[in-house]
Amino acid sequence: MNIYADNAATTKMSRAAVEAMLPYMEDYYGNPSSLYSFGQRAREAVESARKSIAECIGADPRGIVFTSGGSEADNQAILSAAALGKKNGKTHIISDEIEHHAVLHTLKKLEREGFRVTYLPVHSDGVVRTEELEAAIREDTCLVTVMYANNEIGTLQPVREIGKICRERKILFHTDAVQAVGHLPIDVESEYIDMLSASAHKFHGPKGTGFLYARKGIRLTNLIEGGAQERGRRAGTENVPGIMGMAAALAESVRDMEENAKRAAALRDRLIKGLAAIPHSALNGDPIKRLPSNVSFCFEGIEGESLLLLLDDKGICASSGSACTSGSLDPSHVLLAIGRVHDVAHGSLRLTLGDDATEEQVDYIIQSVKDVVEYLRGFSPVWRDLCAGKAQFIL
Ligand SMILES: *Cc1c(COP(=O)(O)O)cnc(C)c1O
Repeated sequence: MNIYADNAATTKMSRAAVEAMLPYMEDYYGNPSSLYSFGQRAREAVESARKSIAECIGADPRGIVFTSGGSEADNQAILSAAALGKKNGKTHIISDEIEHHAVLHTLKKLEREGFRVTYLPVHSDGVVRTEELEAAIREDTCLVTVMYANNEIGTLQPVREIGKICRERKILFHTDAVQAVGHLPIDVESEYIDMLSASAHKFHGPKGTGFLYARKGIRLTNLIEGGAQERGRRAGTENVPGIMGMAAALAESVRDMEENAKRAAALRDRLIKGLAAIPHSALNGDPIKRLPSNVSFCFEGIEGESLLLLLDDKGICASSGSACTSGSLDPSHVLLAIGRVHDVAHGSLRLTLGDDATEEQVDYIIQSVKDVVEYLRGFSPVWRDLCAGKAQFIL
């Protein structure tokens, strides 16, 4: 059986997205900035995509800036807010410990330039506390950036409450909603979101395409100098096919959202129940406040990497954390932030189901993980010590 269970890393493009792109590669390949009607045809397509995307998050189309993906949108949002803050002598930013590296590394860069950043803890459930956010706000706070949903453990943050606090205190609020857009209902108005990042390949659109939403009146710093595209906020000829694919993918995801989420959550809970039956295992993050397709576990006494390789042999594509963390020996900063100790964090597994997942596949995953965990523990020195009482079980 071949099962792709790594949809938080990337998703398969939908047929609708592929079909929306093809005409803009083969037939209407004009440059949207060209004045002749052939170019204007591409311009109209881009503007209709902007409108359709804006509608999906309750935004004004003029607030949508097309980018190369989620990372660029995160960088631009944070650097723009920082530049605005600095102009007013405000150089304090509030974020949290489990952000994506696109956010964390941008914040680190700002810290080297003299900004101060408060990283809110997320507690063992993987959720930030709004009281702690309120307590962290200072006179010179210019930005709060907290993700909508976490890419590793799937936990959802109290975005609306955070947005409300920021709006009342006149502080800009950005959310990395890359894991949420197309999967959860989002409304930038009622959730008090000033800036939002999204990426097409996380909702069945093409890779290398995304967008940044910025509320009216927020002056964005452009990261890429050049032409006047995107109202001077992002230079470079528009990725017309990518934008068309993204709009089609998002419209379809939003149309089917309720049904997909309900189905996915039922399969997720079946998978959680099955894996929780493995001794000395634990679910990472809150069981309810989480993405409908995210299952993240730690298994004591094993290495996540070995687990992944053996699952691969069984036809299962999974991950041990974020795509960015794998390949490095450090355990995930997200798992450490929810209080997992190094050894336990190393034995992690993330399964993110697709819209087409079935009960049969879930049951096959459960059985495979059980078998592989048992097999690996069979020759793990750490496990032997735990069983012999030479070390204490944590889970
Ligand atoms: C995937 C992801 C990103 C990066 O998006 P790209 O389009 O791959 O640059 C940023 N934040 C989160 C939460 C993500 O899951």
